[in-house]
Amino acid sequence: MASEEVIISLSNVVKSFGDFNAVDGISLEIKRGQFVTILGPSGCGKTTTLRMIGGFELPSSGTILLNGKDITLLPPYKRPINTVFQRYALFPHLDVYDNVAFGLKLKKIPVEVTKRNGQVVTKMRHLSSKEIDELVSKSLSIVDLDELEDRDITTLSGGQQQRVAIARCIVNKPEILLLDEPLGALDLKMRKDMQIELKDMHKKLGITFIYVTHDQEEALTMSDVIVVMKDGVIQQVGTPTDIYNEPKNAFVADFIGESNIYNGLMVGPKKVRFLGVDFDCLDDFAKDERVDVVVRPEDVLLSSSKKSAIQGVIVNKIFKGVHYEYVINSGKNEIIAKSTKDFPEGPISIDIEPDGIHIMKKETAENLYTNCEVQKDNSVSLSSSYVDVDLTQLVKGSKMDDDGYLVLPNGKKHDLKGAKLTLEIPLDKIELSDDTEFGQFTGRVISSIYHGDHYQVICRTEDDEDFVLETNDTWNVNDIVGIQVNKKDIKIRLKGDISDYEI
Ligand code: ATP
Repeated sequence: MASEEVIISLSNVVKSFGDFNAVDGISLEIKRGQFVTILGPSGCGKTTTLRMIGGFELPSSGTILLNGKDITLLPPYKRPINTVFQRYALFPHLDVYDNVAFGLKLKKIPVEVTKRNGQVVTKMRHLSSKEIDELVSKSLSIVDLDELEDRDITTLSGGQQQRVAIARCIVNKPEILLLDEPLGALDLKMRKDMQIELKDMHKKLGITFIYVTHDQEEALTMSDVIVVMKDGVIQQVGTPTDIYNEPKNAFVADFIGESNIYNGLMVGPKKVRFLGVDFDCLDDFAKDERVDVVVRPEDVLLSSSKKSAIQGVIVNKIFKGVHYEYVINSGKNEIIAKSTKDFPEGPISIDIEPDGIHIMKKETAENLYTNCEVQKDNSVSLSSSYVDVDLTQLVKGSKMDDDGYLVLPNGKKHDLKGAKLTLEIPLDKIELSDDTEFGQFTGRVISSIYHGDHYQVICRTEDDEDFVLETNDTWNVNDIVGIQVNKKDIKIRLKGDISDYEI
């Protein structure tokens, strides 16, 4: 199994394409012999990270060390690393044996030769047929294809072709094998079989595997360590159990398995209120802090006792083979529960033990926009659009005059054009419409997470400005929407001092 020795170390690695950071300053240490999976939604920077480790992309900044040596700028062929891609990239006109042997036939190895005068020199020589035979047979046996070495590539199934691709990589005895969604093109049954086989191959080979997938189940099944990424940033690194049981934030909790996610409030030491009830919990945060509370469906304890903390009604029930999955309404909240016990639809009592309650720091208490500038007409720039704000918020008792100046209670006039403001917009004050002409902005829904009694939706404008909002409406990822914010709901803060703008 894994030794404690670090084989790959990324430090503050950034990869920009134009002014977009696909990978945004990640630091990560991978230990020798581990099966590490980089997991995250499409576009989060997984492949780019893998390609930088393989040498196919150069980082814009930061360093990559291999066994303590800087390889940041080293070309791919000089790294003891091989990559298995989703598309197998095999030679269709060659049989299995020749596909695996292809690289070996070109390879030269150093040999020490003693000249007649006694001088020892290093020469390069090709591998002998016998050496190639031995290496190919060994790799084919690791991927369980020893019987098929004479078969044409085109007669193999997708899973078998992917095994040939893996054999072709491991025949070079790399220290690290990079696998970029290698099972992506396979059907579900084949995927499941190959997951087990890959894990097995990893054990047999004892080398480091760095695996990229967007499939959380695949990551949980195979990995020693999972690296969860979002928007080019690492969200959490941990064992599958750590990541599942102790997600660092609502994104990780939502991405890894099914979760109930609620808005909570810390009401005392290790006491949190959510679903209208005060619960004891194991995590501690400051009193009155707003938090995200995550409860896994299997930690929702159902009973017919009337003494439970929460009363609800089972409105839907599905038998999943070993357990039942229940949808329960409690007030305006929805709770998903899993239980091996069979309860009838109708009233039910619910308890949650302290160790089933995971409290996370709320990452977005409101939308914060910095560096917004007051325009000639007193509107304020935000992203590529403008919003009206109430500038009189800046000084109590002030008002706007007919010329557009802010007049303080002492009668002094201020011209705020060009002033920089920070805008705060609460999550529940942003409205969406499927009419893109609605509101000040147009954006695309990039995430929609159910929080028990509402959705938390993130919309991104063309200029990469995010609006996070809470809504009862259902929006789908990739919906194009109009986004509206009302003047009265925008809180403003002035950067600098109001006296700088006196006229
Ligand atoms: P997927 O699972 O969809 O492959 P990913 O997490 O592997 O996603 P990457 O392929 O690393 O994501 O891409 C991250 C972001 O960088 C994406 O927005 C992608 O469009 C962008 N990107 C990747 N390569 C380039 C490139 N050569 N030029 C411009 N943008 C790029």
